[in-house]
Amino acid sequence: MSKFDGYEPGFDIPALPGMDEAEIATPCLVLDMDALERNLRKMGAYAKAQGMRLRVHGKMHKSVDLAKLQIAIGGACGVCCQKVSEAEVFVRGGIGDVLLTNELRDPRQIDRLARLAGMGARLGCCIDDIDNVAELSAAVARHGTTLDCLVEIDCGAGRCGVTDSAAALEIARAIAAAPGLRFAGLQAYQGAAQHLRSFDERKARIGTAIAITREVVAVLEEAGLPCEVVSGAGTGSFQFEAESGVYTELQCGSYAFMDADYGRVQDAEGGRLDGPGGWENALFLMTSVMSHVRADRAVVDAGLKAQSVDSGLPVVFGRAGDDLEYITCSDEHGVIADPRGVLRVNDRLKLVPGHCDPTCNIHDWYVGLRGGKVECVWPVSARGRFY
Ligand code: PLP
Ligand code: MN
Repeated sequence: MSKFDGYEPGFDIPALPGMDEAEIATPCLVLDMDALERNLRKMGAYAKAQGMRLRVHGKMHKSVDLAKLQIAIGGACGVCCQKVSEAEVFVRGGIGDVLLTNELRDPRQIDRLARLAGMGARLGCCIDDIDNVAELSAAVARHGTTLDCLVEIDCGAGRCGVTDSAAALEIARAIAAAPGLRFAGLQAYQGAAQHLRSFDERKARIGTAIAITREVVAVLEEAGLPCEVVSGAGTGSFQFEAESGVYTELQCGSYAFMDADYGRVQDAEGGRLDGPGGWENALFLMTSVMSHVRADRAVVDAGLKAQSVDSGLPVVFGRAGDDLEYITCSDEHGVIADPRGVLRVNDRLKLVPGHCDPTCNIHDWYVGLRGGKVECVWPVSARGRFY
């Protein structure tokens, strides 16, 4: 009996293992398994060589299967996630070490996190308000569980996080004194720097983040609260945090799949987002030509409902020389400029989505491809879990 018994391809699921690539129902997210595995191994090797822990960001792919692969071959110690509902999916799926890189304030969500901490995984979360310490401590007491807590500092992104070391110290002290909570260190993620096109600009912004973080670490250390964990970094910045001597943990997410926007960052610096070679595109939105009435315009079946275009339109992959360009979309249609008239109805294209995270969140499945065959079909396990 297969886990897909009763699934009708093209209706319940885009494809089944063993099918040919050409049989996949489109539009559909497909993974180039060879490229994916190379990306995972490369980041794992990098983190290891730098003596850093790699805690991959699971909000990017929302897939338990992929998280397991990242742990098995990609050197990951566990995952980050952003929402308690995501954490539930990863823990129930068997991931043993999950950090919520976020604050929880809704009493029901806090209660769910405290309960989840008793389900076999090591769990952590972030705090940027002293009142949250008592809330979390009371919840773990009710459930007889424990939580690792990081104080989140705002190191330049202007999102969550305390803005001075005195506040960080006050919260860290409160955590250390709170029953059921363990002070583990700092969350210091600079999200506003990740997609800046210029290497020097990213380096400067992360330089500021590192200086802020270093100061807070020193103040806490001085007060007898050493930071075992200093966590942060994304695909656009990780080498700076890794070389800082301050951070201990990398939270990269997009490196596994890449997307068109990170591709532009990588191109802007000659392919060296991580040093030699850069990251390969492993995630594609497979789409089919459904209409080609005008000689120079093809219409494909992947529009707004199949992808997020917040970071720009997708890029046609692997057709250099054909001058194909995805130029506009509506709900269910995408228009491809085809100036040479090379496309035919039912031709398939692989699009590189503009932004991987929100694109993955609107699909139910990943279809893993190797050598033109469907090797695996993975659910986007935490799809839609944003509460
Ligand atoms: N850490 C946190 C807290 C994030 O919010 C994100 C993404 O926005 C990341 C890490 C991963 O970033 P990336 O996908 O750019 O690698
Ligand atoms: Mn993103």
